[in-house]
Amino acid sequence: MTYDALELSLNDWQILFTEWNEQKFRATQVCQWIYAKKEFSWHSMTNLSKTLRDKLNENIMMSLPIVIRQQVSRDGTRKYLWQLNDGSRIESVLLNHGGHKTACISSQAGCPLGCTFCETGANGFTRNLTRGEILGQFLMMEKLNGADINNIVFMGMGEPLLNEDNVFSAIRSLNDKNMRNLGARHITISTSGIAPGIEDLADFEIPIRLSLSLHAPNDELRSRIMPVNRQYPLQKLVASLRRYHERTGERITIEYALIDGVNDSPEYAYEMAALLDGLEPYINIIPFNPIPSKPELRRSPSGRVKEFCSALASLKIEHELRKERGGDIMAACGQLAGSTRNAS
Ligand code: SAH
Ligand code: SF4
Repeated sequence: MTYDALELSLNDWQILFTEWNEQKFRATQVCQWIYAKKEFSWHSMTNLSKTLRDKLNENIMMSLPIVIRQQVSRDGTRKYLWQLNDGSRIESVLLNHGGHKTACISSQAGCPLGCTFCETGANGFTRNLTRGEILGQFLMMEKLNGADINNIVFMGMGEPLLNEDNVFSAIRSLNDKNMRNLGARHITISTSGIAPGIEDLADFEIPIRLSLSLHAPNDELRSRIMPVNRQYPLQKLVASLRRYHERTGERITIEYALIDGVNDSPEYAYEMAALLDGLEPYINIIPFNPIPSKPELRRSPSGRVKEFCSALASLKIEHELRKERGGDIMAACGQLAGSTRNAS
């Protein structure tokens, strides 16, 4: 086999088909089958000649993640455990709110950044995912559900901006009119704060959304709970956010998980407001999701959450207290471990 189908961009397909003396529009037809119709068998691509289908069958692999386990939460959230070609295991989550579906996708097998509150980080890092493995999670979820998914968020396992080339390449194909045709506004990258990656996103040709996992408004606390902050401290990070905001005019979402006694004092709400002054952020307050590797970390009590939100409200900072989803199947933010350890 020469190539793997999902690793090829539309341009790669066009180059290949030119080499094969096929017309260029055949490349679009193949991509329509794969990305729009979720047809992964060459022989079923009936508007292609038998000769071309045979040639595809002989030369192009169709690697897809294999679903090892599917779990459904009480709230309708689904979690998928996939096995990749080399045996690595990753997870993705499908959220369903009022008929609107959002796929939460992994960008790495594990994560090298080791945030203290995150189960993915506690389990170490294996490798970056390829563009095909990123796209494969999304297309397989659409195939298994027999329906299109409206949104994709890079909020599964791993740090997407440490795997920028493959993540950006996957996004180009999701967005391409001749491939999946998913609108830029329906694609979100969540980052722990890789400043150079945020700068690249400011220049990226597709205006996707950006979400920053802040969780602490000063360097002392943030470096303690998110070691990545030592490499990209807040001044550098906020400068990259300002550049992104200026270049794109986009509003940035800030993720802030309230951990009991760690980062939930109302003082931190004031400090966060000062730090982000002028950025017009939208703040998502996330209930901290308990993780097996850190039983000592607890969710803030509801009185404390209210106090924190009131502080933001008094400063007229737009925010929302997010509902936990999928907690009963360990599918909530930060709970993905890519293992069968938590199988119920
Ligand atoms: N690495 C990227 C993408 C993963 S997104 C990032 O960190 O942004 C996962 C989201 O869940 C991030 O916002 C992360 O900060 C948050 N998170 C991690 N552990 C969590 C936990 N135990 N409870 C609530 N949110 C958590
Ligand atoms: Fe990695 Fe994000 Fe988890 Fe931190 S929160 S360890 S960056 S996946």
